[in-house]
Amino acid sequence: MEVGQMDHDVIVVGTRAAGAATAMLLARAGLRVLAVDRARFPSDTLSTHQVQVPGIARLGRWGVLDRIAAVTPAVPVVRLDAGSAVLEGRYPAVDGVDALYGPRRTLLDAALVDAARAAGAEVREGFAVEELTRDPEGRITGIRGRLRGEGRGRGPDSGRMTATARLVIGADGKRSMTAQAVGAGSYHVRQPVTFACYSYWSGVDVPPGSIHVRSGLTVPAFHTNDGLVMIAMFAPMAEFDRFRADPEAGYLAALDRCGDLGERVRAGVRAEPFRLAPDVPNLFRTPHGPGWALVGDAGVVMDPVAGQGISNAFRDAELLAAAVVRGLDGGGLDEALAGYQRERDAAALPVFAMTRALATLRVSGGQRLLLSAIADDPAETSRFLGVLAGAARYDEYLRPGNVLGRLGGGVVRRLRRLGRPVTAACVGGGRAPTVAGDATDATPVSG
Ligand SMILES: Cc1cc2nc3c(=O)[nH]c(=O)nc-3n(C[C@H](O)[C@H](O)[C@H](O)COP(=O)(O)OP(=O)(O)OC[C@H]3O[C@@H](n4cnc5c(N)ncnc54)[C@H](O)[C@@H]3O)c2cc1C
Repeated sequence: MEVGQMDHDVIVVGTRAAGAATAMLLARAGLRVLAVDRARFPSDTLSTHQVQVPGIARLGRWGVLDRIAAVTPAVPVVRLDAGSAVLEGRYPAVDGVDALYGPRRTLLDAALVDAARAAGAEVREGFAVEELTRDPEGRITGIRGRLRGEGRGRGPDSGRMTATARLVIGADGKRSMTAQAVGAGSYHVRQPVTFACYSYWSGVDVPPGSIHVRSGLTVPAFHTNDGLVMIAMFAPMAEFDRFRADPEAGYLAALDRCGDLGERVRAGVRAEPFRLAPDVPNLFRTPHGPGWALVGDAGVVMDPVAGQGISNAFRDAELLAAAVVRGLDGGGLDEALAGYQRERDAAALPVFAMTRALATLRVSGGQRLLLSAIADDPAETSRFLGVLAGAARYDEYLRPGNVLGRLGGGVVRRLRRLGRPVTAACVGGGRAPTVAGDATDATPVSG
């Protein structure tokens, strides 16, 4: 039995970082929103969860931060240890927010789902979308799917539901069923280059936020909820097969390359299993078409080493919600969605370039020089951390005038003697692809 035909302005498929935020913003704008997710919240997912300062600023603006900040340690200071060069400093403030937080996804996603409901969106948990419906011209008109588990009832059609809307938004993650159903094209596609392994520890004495970078290795360690520390490691994909034969040994060996981190971790207790993440694609998808749009990882996914995915999802939720409100308000939906793609790409490309550069897991000689040159200057350190946090534009930071000023004449002369292109030597050594679609590979400089 069909549960019923429904009529909404917008249906959102997926209710985590991107979907719940988009549903919340659209409902707040007065639209009739149905949001569905096959998960039931609170629900964990395969992801670490440092939310960078710009993402936290958005949570603050949306009124969702208080609930998270009440139980999650703030991380206003981060220590970046690149071996011979170590930086420690404060994040620059964005809209009055000057700390990163690392809330567990069980907390963050549930808070957003609650905020979407409170805004008036109808949220159906445990509902798996199986297909999209179309009109005779091929325009997407809705979803068809099934309630899973509890409350589903009996019989072959039990829990089935068809719902219609003027727009279906796929916020259903990097393997988006929505994107596949509409045949969304992809661009700026790059092969996966890293894998991640992470777990949670109690009784480990480490600062609230630290990142160790070694050749072929990045290890973020951040305090999270319940007194635990999340410690992840990112290593080259080429090492994954060997690593997965014994993740614990590989993980501890990696931490042993980071000063006394391995020792500190062995003094603590692992609170949860190791999680392995070898599936980290890098690509943009065309995020709109007749009757559909994509947001979050469904639309742009990048290597998690830079910890930008959640903040990207929040940013794009705002951009998409504004475009949808404009478009459904008589401004022309297709045109508004084309504007969303332009704005999204302009904002995401510099972050993508930085992420790809960091995903090379290489620290060049030029980068070490830069870190040493700014380490004693709190304002410069903060500015650099703002770039890593996505609060300042990576491509702006790499402008020759900026970099030369920071390095000082002596360092520049040394780089030139080494034959190094000075501006390519910083942050990760890449250059930002342009909005017009030039996503040529970064050119990291190994030291
Ligand atoms: C190892 C790893 C570490 C990471 N660390 C960080 C980090 O520290 N900081 C950071 O900012 N980002 C990090 N990321 C990236 C981050 O996880 C993603 O960018 C973010 O989760 C994207 O949110 P989303 O809402 O777009 O998609 P998702 O979080 O993937 O949510 C998609 C939702 O859609 C639902 N769904 C899918 N298909 C259907 C269907 N057919 N019907 C109904 N529901 C459906 C799923 O159940 C899911 O709840 C990491 C990622 C990985 C893999």
